Amino acid sequence: MKIAWFCVPAHGHTNPTLGLVKALTDAGHEIYYFSFNDFKEKLENAGAKFVSCDGYDFDMEDKENGDRVGKDMAFAVELLVCSTLSLDEMIAKNIEEIKPDLIITDSIAYWGKLTAKKFNIPFISSTTTFAFNRYSSAYMKRGIMETLKMLFSMPKINKQLDRLREKGYPIKNILDIVQNDNETNTIVYTSKFFQPCADTFSDKYKFIGPSMRAVENEVKKTKDTTVYISLGTVVKNENFYSNCIEAFKKTDYQVIIALGTNDVSFGELPENIKVYKSVDQMAVLSIADVFITHCGMNSTSEALYYEVPLVMCPQTPEQGAVARRTEELGAGVMLNDKSTPEDILNIVNGVIKDTRYKEAAKKVSESFKNSGGIEEAKEFVENILK
Ligand code: UDP
Repeated sequence: MKIAWFCVPAHGHTNPTLGLVKALTDAGHEIYYFSFNDFKEKLENAGAKFVSCDGYDFDMEDKENGDRVGKDMAFAVELLVCSTLSLDEMIAKNIEEIKPDLIITDSIAYWGKLTAKKFNIPFISSTTTFAFNRYSSAYMKRGIMETLKMLFSMPKINKQLDRLREKGYPIKNILDIVQNDNETNTIVYTSKFFQPCADTFSDKYKFIGPSMRAVENEVKKTKDTTVYISLGTVVKNENFYSNCIEAFKKTDYQVIIALGTNDVSFGELPENIKVYKSVDQMAVLSIADVFITHCGMNSTSEALYYEVPLVMCPQTPEQGAVARRTEELGAGVMLNDKSTPEDILNIVNGVIKDTRYKEAAKKVSESFKNSGGIEEAKEFVENILK
């Protein structure tokens, strides 16, 4: 079978797919993975044929500001329209040559879904976040200002959608593109237990559990208590990292910090605090007692898999949904942007002392380990065309 796979330029959306890409290519299927040069190597290593989406000018006012996507609906729609239009010719040419039997597309790589509709090719949605329908979306509480901003931006959104319609994409409205519906075959990289409102999704949804990478470079536990701090690979919030350092300066905890895209130096630090740009997160989580996180879906799943309770500081509505679900299941506690170093330390100490958080994390971990995993996803994909 020939599969065209589409994804956005983000590690958090690419990594969970690699295991399935490998399983499908090992079984003799051809995968043409439309992605971006930064991801070429890992995709080819997984067995895919890489098709580059780089070099197409998205023609947007503020395209550098990637972290606005999760926060601002009008911006996200502009991005999806501009990216779909700029990739339109390249994708059409490739699709006509490849003639894929199936399209698999990340749930926010909308150009994949739109290509499937335009060329009438069966498709599977690959959802690396929770699946969101009108029930589970309630976990992404938006503030009143955000809701107002969204309402006022609807005319702008509709104008953008007209640009797609003119190019032959059959779209009714914005929900047609952005919402998960019960008719679409969908792979979700979490367990049914962790997914909010799981019972409101049809049998077309396969909750396969998160895919874990192996530990590559073991990290030594140097103290009784290890605290890991990371806001992932996209979020910029230098102030938050400074507050954490302030919080743990006088403790006897082993503190491991991954800065991601935050470009900041903290001068001389006590020996218990180590700051890196990036770490082997699996290795660190395997020795951590608590994880201070932005609640990216992958980081959260990885931590819970290792039965590590969370202290949570979500930065986008989607991360807020992950945090709310984790809190609801008792595996973490929420911080907020106003939390002082003292608040952070108190909350972390509370999570370490009260073993119920770890027990709750363990329950989620078990649900992940009992999910069908890549084997089930592979069967699901192969059965679509039977
Ligand atoms: N990650 C890592 N090392 C780091 C920071 C992050 O390997 O120092 C990985 C992490 O294990 C996860 C991904 O990067 O798989 C981050 O994805 P997530 O969905 O948590 O957040 P995002 O970066 O997309 O906001």
